[in-house]
Amino acid sequence: MENQVIISADGLKKHFPVKQGFLSTVFSKNILSVKAVDGINLFVRKGEILGLVGESGSGKTTTGKLLLRLIEPTAGRIVYKDKDVTHLSSRELKPLRREMQIIFQDPFESLDPRMLVKDIVAEPVRIQRVARTDDEVYERVKQILREVELRPPEEFMLRFPHELSGGQRQRVAVARAFILDPEFVVADEPVSMLDVSIRAEILNLMLELVQKRGASVLYVTHDLALARHICDRIAVMYLGRVVEIGSTDAILNHPLHPYTKALIAAVPVPDPNSKRVGEVISGEIPSPIDPPPGCKFHTRCPYVHIRCTFVDTPLIEVEEDHWAACHLVDLPTNGSDKAKAPISSLDLTTSG
Ligand code: SF4
Repeated sequence: MENQVIISADGLKKHFPVKQGFLSTVFSKNILSVKAVDGINLFVRKGEILGLVGESGSGKTTTGKLLLRLIEPTAGRIVYKDKDVTHLSSRELKPLRREMQIIFQDPFESLDPRMLVKDIVAEPVRIQRVARTDDEVYERVKQILREVELRPPEEFMLRFPHELSGGQRQRVAVARAFILDPEFVVADEPVSMLDVSIRAEILNLMLELVQKRGASVLYVTHDLALARHICDRIAVMYLGRVVEIGSTDAILNHPLHPYTKALIAAVPVPDPNSKRVGEVISGEIPSPIDPPPGCKFHTRCPYVHIRCTFVDTPLIEVEEDHWAACHLVDLPTNGSDKAKAPISSLDLTTSG
């Protein structure tokens, strides 16, 4: 059961057109676009937490929004519980919205400042019409506010977001996300903007709700140390692509891709004598408007060779359940065909 896939992306792309001036539009042959997500393949299993890590601008948040169909994909396919949801209309998506939720990074922007807490949290219940009376609605609101430890709930229900601290606001956002018992949640750096002193509290609270409901989570973060603690598997993104994906242990203790190694090397360690697995990389992530040809990481990779500059790098299963996109690992480890199978050709619904 736990190996069932709840949601998968196959060749998913999101290109945002760039607004150009009149002259550029008339004289330029190319229409420029930001390739925020540029052909990713990944899946989330039922009941697992998949960490999506990478630098700012790697496409993590856009991937989360695409999976929830909050933005329209440019190409590719999204399958939720064996159903292709890529092109469903808003009306067709409505019942699925009940099962899929998002928690945003910024608790100051994600809550409507003109609404009372009781109405913010009740909104999904009203939209989905899962309670018949106002009393029923507010009973559910009280129950979930108790669960997120905003007690007594009656006291918080009649407050506006500006009357709450950052931590309390994020508890309200978590309550809104979990009030309908979702099956799949995108958590987009939900604690990164909070005071360090309350991060662990909110995170533990969220994990408790996830566990109670057996929900599956895509946890977007740039913090590998945090991902180590909470994720079952980790996918590493670079410039709109997944460059490595595998179990948390495999990614952090046996990383294959030079970018993953560089991310791990950049994590501060308390012991100055401990051995680092990779070289810290320098420079900025290239522009997603004009990404480099071949391997997208070749402009910063310490191991770059000529092939990397013009030959693209698909994700290859290098060892069981561990994929990487790099020419250095583009060799079967055991001579079997499986070791060379691109992730998009795997049967995601039965993959274990
Ligand atoms: Fe580095 Fe080449 Fe591997 Fe890309 S394909 S990560 S440039 S070694």
